[in-house]
Amino acid sequence: SESCSNCYRVVLIGEQGVGKSSLANIFAGVHDSIDSDCEVLGDTYERTLMVDGESATIVLLDMWDNKREGEWIRDHCMKVGDAYLIVYSITDRASFEKASELRIQLRRARQKEDIPIILVGNKSDLVRCREVSVAEGRACAVVFDCKFIETSAAVQHNVKELFEGIVRQVRLRRDSK
Ligand code: GDP
Ligand code: MG
Repeated sequence: SESCSNCYRVVLIGEQGVGKSSLANIFAGVHDSIDSDCEVLGDTYERTLMVDGESATIVLLDMWDNKREGEWIRDHCMKVGDAYLIVYSITDRASFEKASELRIQLRRARQKEDIPIILVGNKSDLVRCREVSVAEGRACAVVFDCKFIETSAAVQHNVKELFEGIVRQVRLRRDSK
């Protein structure tokens, strides 16, 4: 897939428990994708979506919390993504602060590259447990020069928009080259 011009490796990062795997599972089950079956290889999901009339293959990596494989896997994740989804939970301020740290680490790891990133505030259905406001999430994304979206994997709100959004971000950079 290295040579495929519309294949994008998208990496999920963020604290354990924020909903990365839940988002990946929804991605794996997207109904209006071109391929009827999602290819699943352990914690890697591949599927082809139609976005703005053009197909795009996303290879989604959900291995950030893989403790068994050790720390090298996080270094690997930081290196191999064409795009990143930095996920926090709107019900967990610590996970929001962690997201900022990860943005800084990513910038350091990929200094010269303009990598598409979406900051994802997940669990938006848990309104009564909210610890991070929409305004804070948005402001953080401005500071870190990335896009922002709130999602709910539980009620499947904005999840399709999230994956379409990351495809659009990669294309914007591709088309401006
Ligand atoms: P990961 O550790 O980042 O992969 O997080 P998981 O996908 O395993 O989710 C951790 C827990 O949060 C699970 O119990 C999920 O069911 C729950 N969860 C994930 N996303 C949402 C969401 O959008 N809303 C709610 N209410 N729960 C969620
Ligand atoms: Mg997980």
